[in-house]
Amino acid sequence: MTEAQSYDVVVVGAGFSGLYLLHRLREAGQSVRVFEAGASVGGTWFWNRYPGARVDIESQEYAYSFSPELDAEWKWTERYAAQPELLAYLNHVADRFDLRGDIQLQTRVTSAVWDEEARRWTVTTDRGDRVSARHVVMATGCLSTPKDDAELPGSDSFRGSSWHTGRWPEGGVDFTGKTVAVIGTGSSAIQSIPKIAEQAAHVTVFQRTPNFSVPAHNGPADPAVMADWAAHREQYRREAREVGFGIRSIGITETPALTVSPEARQAAFEERWHYGGFALLGAFNDLIVDPEANVTAAEFVRGKIREIVQDPATAEKLSPKTYPIGTKRICVDTGYYATFNRDNVSLVDLTEEPIERVTPAGVKTSAREYEVDAIVYAIGFDAMTGALDKIDIRGRGGARLKDAWAGGPGTYLGLMVAGFPNLFLVTGPGSPSVLCNMAVAIEQHVEWISDCIAWMSERQAASIEATSAAQEEWVAHVNEVAEATLFPRANSWYLGANVPGKPRVFMPYIGGFPIYRDKCREVAVAGYEGCVVSG
Ligand code: NAP
Repeated sequence: MTEAQSYDVVVVGAGFSGLYLLHRLREAGQSVRVFEAGASVGGTWFWNRYPGARVDIESQEYAYSFSPELDAEWKWTERYAAQPELLAYLNHVADRFDLRGDIQLQTRVTSAVWDEEARRWTVTTDRGDRVSARHVVMATGCLSTPKDDAELPGSDSFRGSSWHTGRWPEGGVDFTGKTVAVIGTGSSAIQSIPKIAEQAAHVTVFQRTPNFSVPAHNGPADPAVMADWAAHREQYRREAREVGFGIRSIGITETPALTVSPEARQAAFEERWHYGGFALLGAFNDLIVDPEANVTAAEFVRGKIREIVQDPATAEKLSPKTYPIGTKRICVDTGYYATFNRDNVSLVDLTEEPIERVTPAGVKTSAREYEVDAIVYAIGFDAMTGALDKIDIRGRGGARLKDAWAGGPGTYLGLMVAGFPNLFLVTGPGSPSVLCNMAVAIEQHVEWISDCIAWMSERQAASIEATSAAQEEWVAHVNEVAEATLFPRANSWYLGANVPGKPRVFMPYIGGFPIYRDKCREVAVAGYEGCVVSG
């Protein structure tokens, strides 16, 4: 038996969160080991390399703000950066801050077990590592565990090639001359379908639920926008942190939708549609809380679909009608709806003919078999809890996190879990995370967690743990706020509704980033109120 290597902190994941954590914790004098399953740093932007993958928030807003020098020296080339550029950015961050030496790649953490006596975690990996750490931070991402294609019976019998968008091969896939089935019509599908259709002989899109999508109007980064951003960087970053979704360019107005005339409303939506991206949802301040206001935005987008898609029957099928706009993450596309005007693209509505199984030759619905050379599974992720569930995490008394969360995830501020001392989550369930600009949400979490760990070190405190009472109060608040919006009306991955058997619990916090950040700050200033600090 060799003695386990010992660290102050083990970080799981080297994506946006893990990289900044490593930098900040090291600055605070902590010894840190980062384990990363991928062959490179980058997290989301390492794995999601499907055709057309790009960010849905303007590049300059979807970036770290902690280093003004980094911010100033990195030049984005497109309004919405594509995956290769985002991956290059994160690699640049790893080099610039000399992070690589403390990151162990191609290593998946398999367990983290709390040792009550030592008040430390023992962390093991699939490469045989066994290390000891005072703290463990899960920087494992919210959308990092792809749903298994085994959800579709017969998927293992398919004779052609198949890929999940979230596990796309390095080097890409050549679809030239191939017939392709794409299953799913979420953001990943909506970005990849137009690109695949440019190459393939034929693309058949299997749609269970249509999504609302707005145009990105992507293009080369506008020098005037970038110069303005550079001149006002600090101010614009601050402004982004004062917006509920952490995105300055949404430009949410103070106006309720029904207080203006139908003509004025239409003009406002048109202007936002022309601008592109999430800005549409900022046209009025009540689109995600007032059902009638919401219908005006939904009908506007349905009108656009009817305008763009030439075949009225296809346009109808592509038009979402079963949930309010914005309550499933709105997609930001480049030519998605127009792709259905191509001769080599067809749409299968699974509400009319559900998939029965995948066959050796293709996809069999209740109506017929569609023979294809390749299948793209754009079926999404076991969001927010999937990556944590895969690790055997055992807290006080050997309790498993997966069991503690069997009825839905419970956290204190999305950051800590009662019964799991010295364990921190970045953008965990119960935090704004996926309902916020991830760059903004991650920086706030990383700073809160690293400040907490530094505070503990200064006091030579051995452990910190959320109390059950504080956690219950927070979870109740998260639910209460969600219920005040239209979000629970959609069968979204926010609710776990996309994973068979997952408890239906609204996971992210929708009270808005500024309110959340202030609450976190108050908790810290009060000596980590709601937590027990000992040792
Ligand atoms: P998703 O939004 O969950 O979409 C998955 C799609 O697959 C849905 O249309 C879903 O239908 C369908 N599906 C799932 N299981 C199925 C089954 N068994 N049979 C048939 N259809 C099935 O996943 P995603 O597109 O990967 O996106 C997930 C999230 O990642 C996004 O919401 C976004 O937050 C993020 N993302 C962002 C970008 C970006 O633009 N930057 C790009 C990609 C992803 P139902 O709706 O009926 O469940």
